[in-house]
Amino acid sequence: MSVPDNPGWSFDTLAVRAGQERSQFNEHSEALYLTSSFVFENAAQAAARFSGEEPGNVYARFTNPTVTTMQERLAALEGAEACVATATGMAAILSTVMALMKSGEHIVASRSIFGATQQLFGTILPRFGVETAFVDQGSVEAFRAALRPTTKLVFIETPSNPLTEVFDIAALAEVAHTAGALLVVDNCFCTPALQRPLELGADLVIHSATKYLDGQGRVLGGAVCGSKPLTDEVFKFLRTAGPTLSPFNAWVILKGLETLSVRMKAQSANALELAQWLEAQPQVARVHYPGLASHPQHVLAMRQQASGGAIVSFEVKGGREAAWRVVDNCRLLSITANLGDTKTTITHPASTTHGRITAEARAASGIGEGLLRIAVGLESPADLKADLARGLV
Ligand SMILES: *Cc1c(COP(=O)(O)O)cnc(C)c1O
Repeated sequence: MSVPDNPGWSFDTLAVRAGQERSQFNEHSEALYLTSSFVFENAAQAAARFSGEEPGNVYARFTNPTVTTMQERLAALEGAEACVATATGMAAILSTVMALMKSGEHIVASRSIFGATQQLFGTILPRFGVETAFVDQGSVEAFRAALRPTTKLVFIETPSNPLTEVFDIAALAEVAHTAGALLVVDNCFCTPALQRPLELGADLVIHSATKYLDGQGRVLGGAVCGSKPLTDEVFKFLRTAGPTLSPFNAWVILKGLETLSVRMKAQSANALELAQWLEAQPQVARVHYPGLASHPQHVLAMRQQASGGAIVSFEVKGGREAAWRVVDNCRLLSITANLGDTKTTITHPASTTHGRITAEARAASGIGEGLLRIAVGLESPADLKADLARGLV
């Protein structure tokens, strides 16, 4: 039972069924193959498997049936031809760069990308001759202006963290393609349940499976989804360099994918309710949530996303002191920077995730001392509001 036999299945069905292949025991739940290597019938088969002449499992640095099932299921959900799973989200980004770029080539990336991605592009890749131009504005023109003849990748995250800025995937795909570059979208915040960048023209989708794909804060993982030729290059790098997803983590993520759609719907609905409530609080100066009509890119967001997502940021009046008061009065919300969990989390970006950059750089990115970010989970919105209300005085 695998996807190609059932091309007509809808998203929700694929999330539960795609990629499964039963063993001789006919297990109902997908099997977890905790094995590092695979046995061959004879020397000739070993040779054929190693050379790639005969498809099949060889060694779990690059082939394991549980990982394969997870890859096939995620590919089906993203509408991708293929998927390569990696140990973490950062391993997915690094593998993409290592597989597709060489010294002298260039990346155009939005400034508002995940902190570790900024560090990778800004401080590590230059040592290998790969430079990145960071674009501060979200406008398509700003991206076009940053392109060089050597630009290989245009890299975005939408909505952005923590301000939920929305980038126009279809327009940026066109800009990238006109320049002969590829558009890479980190789809961590929306997941394919809410946004399918490949359908909008992106070439590759990156995931930190650590977040919503697992969805319950248990394991680390990552993935790169896209066309067979592009993901084949990523696979060749992974096979040799080894930033591989463990079968155990693949199994946990695989089971997480089965509930992705219902979780994203419920968490988005909770987030919208919380965002509307926050907007009505006198102590709150501003709410950033793409699902609100007050969001500057609400129309674009509703065009390319199925909902506003589950991340809400808001600015309280009174700066750091007032923001920390909200955090410190939380008894239900977890004080942690992680996101994508069924448990709601709260973080103060200026002193945590964005604490290492200068105050000027923070101000330029719009991350003020009063800003708080909430990754909304599955608890009752009434309980979440009561928890936040205690500190909003
Ligand atoms: C967490 C995150 C990553 C990195 O993922 P890891 O699994 O922690 O390596 C990349 N992009 C975004 C948007 C993230 O939130």
